[in-house]
Amino acid sequence: MFMVIRDVTEKYLLQRDRNVALETARLARKEADTDALTGLANRRCAMAALDRAVAVARRSGQPVSLIVFDIDHFKQVNDRHGHLVGDRVIAKVGRIAARQARERDCLGRIGGEEFLWLMPGCDACSALRAAERLRWAIEAGTHSAPIPSITISAGHAEMEQGDAALTLFARADEALYAAKREGRNRVAQAA
Ligand code: GH3
Ligand code: MG
Ligand code: MG
Repeated sequence: MFMVIRDVTEKYLLQRDRNVALETARLARKEADTDALTGLANRRCAMAALDRAVAVARRSGQPVSLIVFDIDHFKQVNDRHGHLVGDRVIAKVGRIAARQARERDCLGRIGGEEFLWLMPGCDACSALRAAERLRWAIEAGTHSAPIPSITISAGHAEMEQGDAALTLFARADEALYAAKREGRNRVAQAA
């Protein structure tokens, strides 16, 4: 009887140790993939999601849209209000964007005040509409104190035949810089 109880207890303890180890690994993985300030995917995780989406789209023929967006004149926010408020602005932009993203999208912070929004299965038309909605939501949603009013500029590119993750990203990034050149607070489409 004693032996049986001991045996079951050991099994239970082993299973419990295994569950704890799995949970610890899951949390470590999540932390490694997450941007601490916004809770969004970090650059490494977002770029890996882009790689995967491009590979899947090559096989399925489904569209993939990519939006890269960046806060306008963010240096002025830091200069006028301090770095702490600057951080709050970045976090707020992340929260607003997260409300716009769909379940299968990947939203990441890929630089100081630069974000990526990956939309698998989304063609240019609906992605541009979504980007415009986001641009408007951020303009409308960032002026309650102590957060100063800010705007974003965004570049969009849709995956084309022969695109790799990096060429798709480069075209979205180029469109972002066109949006900046054209006056900011706007969405531009890759040529
Ligand atoms: P543009 O409209 O052309 O994008 O102008 P900008 O001022 O936003 O662009 P620029 O790249 O010149 O400045 C970005 C600033 O973002 C510079 C840097 O000090 C600030 N920054 C980068 N990372 C962080 C961060 O994590 N927190 C804060 N508060 N500021 C950051
Ligand atoms: Mg900027
Ligand atoms: Mg920038």
